[in-house]
Amino acid sequence: MHNLIETIENLNFRTLFDAIADAMLLTENAGHVVLANPAAQQLFDFKENELVGLAIEMLIAPRYRKQYRYYQMLFFNKPAKLPMGVGNELIALNRCGQEMLLDVSFSPLEIQQQLYVLITFTASRQHQKAEDALRASEERLRLAKQAAGFGIFDYDFKRGIVYWDRQMRKFWGGHFGRIISYKEFVTAIHPEDRADRQAAIDYAMDPASHGEYKAEYRVVDPDDKTERWISVVGRVYFEAGCANRLVGVARDVTEQKILQKKLGMQRDEAEKILKQQVAAHTASAIAHELNQPLTAISAYSEVVLHTLQNNDLNVQNLKKALEGCVEQTQRAGRSLHELIAFLQKGELLTESLDLNDVIREALDIASNDGYERFRSKLNLEKDLPAVQCNHTQVQKVLVNLFRNAVEAMQTVDAPILTITTKVQTLNEKNIALVIVKDSGPGLDQTMAKRIFEPFFTTKPSGIGMGLTISRALIEANGGQLWIDLDAKPGAKFYFTLPFVA
Ligand code: ADP
Repeated sequence: MHNLIETIENLNFRTLFDAIADAMLLTENAGHVVLANPAAQQLFDFKENELVGLAIEMLIAPRYRKQYRYYQMLFFNKPAKLPMGVGNELIALNRCGQEMLLDVSFSPLEIQQQLYVLITFTASRQHQKAEDALRASEERLRLAKQAAGFGIFDYDFKRGIVYWDRQMRKFWGGHFGRIISYKEFVTAIHPEDRADRQAAIDYAMDPASHGEYKAEYRVVDPDDKTERWISVVGRVYFEAGCANRLVGVARDVTEQKILQKKLGMQRDEAEKILKQQVAAHTASAIAHELNQPLTAISAYSEVVLHTLQNNDLNVQNLKKALEGCVEQTQRAGRSLHELIAFLQKGELLTESLDLNDVIREALDIASNDGYERFRSKLNLEKDLPAVQCNHTQVQKVLVNLFRNAVEAMQTVDAPILTITTKVQTLNEKNIALVIVKDSGPGLDQTMAKRIFEPFFTTKPSGIGMGLTISRALIEANGGQLWIDLDAKPGAKFYFTLPFVA
């Protein structure tokens, strides 16, 4: 034990100085380095012989040199230990000019009656704290991102490159590095979706859009050609009015899309069956109503023919038979009117509805029905008063109009469905007016006049009951449905609905 104490007491200054983990410089009182321990050499990235003789100020960032002189002045006025503490921070520079926020402390040391200063540098506690907080927050973000399956991208417009994280690269099939050219990035996007995506970017780059970017598109794996649906939201950042960056998150929504498509197909099938049933019922009801008068008309006509063939011009008989024909024809007409009135009867449950909301719902249904390939433009009147209607029926009409429009637009390059709502005054009364306009081929006048007839269809698998039923439903809800005969190009349908009284 005694030996150990003796050995420790005999340890020389240099050994201790070099063993200390903190960066230390010994300076003479004019502020030039005399010794630098290995920790200081590592911190500043200079060898000791390069540091010796160097004015300590040279290791301080120019804008902090004044502050350093102030510390030095404090110290020399009263050479006592000046420990680290709040405010004893300054920015030092390493060999490469890289800045480091350091805490600094001064200790006087008298060697051969001359004052030396031992300066200790350590990474600023404040800086350390900020770094720790940043690391914790980054870790939290990373975990949340991982849990949500989000990928992050940052597209630099100026350089035409995209920075993206591992998850994004996975979406693209994992074949690329941390940075890729924008061209490479776009190559993997399904050719059919590129135009829509570009339209969403163009929209976001318009300063009037506040930079909001939202798109859904397919990415094709370059190897196995599998497709996945990606949904992205992001924001364009502007510098001096010029878009320079697009940052956002992406999510794989393939499963959701498959499910939506399946549901859409099922709904379509159910709708078709319902239409077929309605058509079958209506047809049999019409047949039922017409059968009797037609049989009678046929019998009266035979009497007339028979009379004429036998040259038996009994005017009384002829008159009676023809009057019978007229009466039966009128009866058939009356029966049909009654039938229609009956079909439209039934308890109609109405409620107060926000028509704009019903339009958005119907649009969602139509968009999710495997008809992804159209853009919709909504010109919805703000603060449209509530309408009094049956929710399911109005929604059915809208979905039917949208589907017809989208089917008609399938041959068009940039299909746009424009839906407008406004308040219209009719007979001094305010009503809601809905306009559904598409960019399809439209209808010629002859066809347009027939589309509300039952069973009128031009589609191979159409039934031709959609518009007939739609018109009946709108009328049952107190409105009217019609087509603008002069709307070409495209078709333009209108319907009205009453506001809540
Ligand atoms: P379906 O769609 O089953 O044929 P509809 O009553 O919905 O029955 O429509 C009847 C016909 O009207 C369609 O077959 C089509 O020829 C025409 N039609 C309806 N909407 C449009 C439209 N937006 N553009 C062009 N033609 C249309």
